[in-house]
Amino acid sequence: MLSIPKYQFWFCTGSQDLYGDECLAHVAEHSAAIVTALNASGELPYEVVLKPTLITNELIRKTFNDANTDPLCAGVITWMHTFSPAKSWILGLREYRKPLCHLATQFNEEIPYDTIDMDFMNENQSAHGDREFGHVFTRVDKNRKVIFGHWANPTVRAELAGWMRTAVGAVVSQHTRVCRFADNMRNVAVTEGDKVEAQVKFGWEVDAWPVNELVPYVDAVTAAEAAALTDEYYDLYDLVLDGRDPSEFRRHVEVQAAQEIGIRRFLEEHNYQAIVTHFGDLGGLKQLPSLSIQRLMAEGYGFGAEGDWKTAAMDRVMKVMAAGIPGAKGTCFMEDYTYNLVPGAEGILESHMSEVDPSVAAGKPAIRVTPLSMGDREDPARLIFTSHAGAGIATSLVDLGERFRLIIAEVDCKKVSHAMPNLPTGTVFWEPRPNLKVGVEAWIYAGGAHHTAFSFDLTSEQMADWADEMGIEAVVIDNNTTVRGLRRDLMLGAVAYR
Ligand code: MN
Repeated sequence: MLSIPKYQFWFCTGSQDLYGDECLAHVAEHSAAIVTALNASGELPYEVVLKPTLITNELIRKTFNDANTDPLCAGVITWMHTFSPAKSWILGLREYRKPLCHLATQFNEEIPYDTIDMDFMNENQSAHGDREFGHVFTRVDKNRKVIFGHWANPTVRAELAGWMRTAVGAVVSQHTRVCRFADNMRNVAVTEGDKVEAQVKFGWEVDAWPVNELVPYVDAVTAAEAAALTDEYYDLYDLVLDGRDPSEFRRHVEVQAAQEIGIRRFLEEHNYQAIVTHFGDLGGLKQLPSLSIQRLMAEGYGFGAEGDWKTAAMDRVMKVMAAGIPGAKGTCFMEDYTYNLVPGAEGILESHMSEVDPSVAAGKPAIRVTPLSMGDREDPARLIFTSHAGAGIATSLVDLGERFRLIIAEVDCKKVSHAMPNLPTGTVFWEPRPNLKVGVEAWIYAGGAHHTAFSFDLTSEQMADWADEMGIEAVVIDNNTTVRGLRRDLMLGAVAYR
């Protein structure tokens, strides 16, 4: 289901006609060589498309408006080869609405000491052009990403690749539709928010549906369909019967199989990419969607529990941003549960009552059927597992009343030192950076939620850039964080984003 359009990025070179046609011919050759090399590198997640050199106000304005309306164009990469008088760019930039990267690079890596003359200097003056272009961008107060360095440098290419994913996240956000089967859990504050403002800022369409509109889709799944999917589960996952009768166990699993098929049909028919449920509002559903939701999450749907549409949408956007990363370890919905405060082994046990995304599982998940400690339904079948280890980021989008804030915490996921045989859920255990004490204090001061959208595969820089693109505040908690510095950042953010 996680089908992403074959997005492209336009490569637009800035120049002017002061130095004649021969110079412009070289500019075009150099641009073509860079684009060919970038595409051939295999290091970029999306194709770069060469556009004609931009030397007139009219062509610049037309190119940016064409980029706005091309559904496959996810952003523009600009390169100032020579000196491009930047008043020419003002109208085009002001009308442009997609992400933009100013690739501050130069065709040659080294100054040609033996042969350099004034013609070479005039033709290759990116250092000059970068400043003129950057000045106008700052002057018109438009968001952009600046990446500096030689275009063949692996670090520069990795940064460009990361920015492309951020840009796709910004574009996909505008096409994200969230289906809410239930309102927010009663009396819970942090999962609430202004859905109108979310559509203004992020483009999210957040719709409520009575859960009993879903029930006929689940009931319409035939016994044969549910049995076939259950057979597939039995091939894919281990079974932990916990002493239950195998046929009774299987009946519980088949309920989840029917839910998976029915929910997917509903979401496809109504064009939703993210889903929200609530254990306290299940209508005619026999079990809390657990294994069913876990499978849909792993397929690429965003998810939030207890009516949490903000985290569901973030989960979806981040899944798209991370799609196709080689060696990806997963992006998922997560919840803070229990601290381990033992010195030297500090961290937070992350989980949910059952809806934990197996995208982050290390090894083969197992199916268990155990009671929920909440609600009034049958024991749900769910997948249990422990996660990969390694660095990741946890994000929380909160509504502060007059604005949104995205909190991004860098964390290190670790194996827990003991087995937890009585815990029937998937788990992750992480230590926030710079350490549990400062990380938690900072998160609490920033107003972060217990629900997060977590990723092993994205960086805090990418998510902060995404927030910039959306025009909202980003608060990053990492190894450089101090509580005093963070509180000053929050105070400055309150002024800047008022
Ligand atoms: Mn929850």
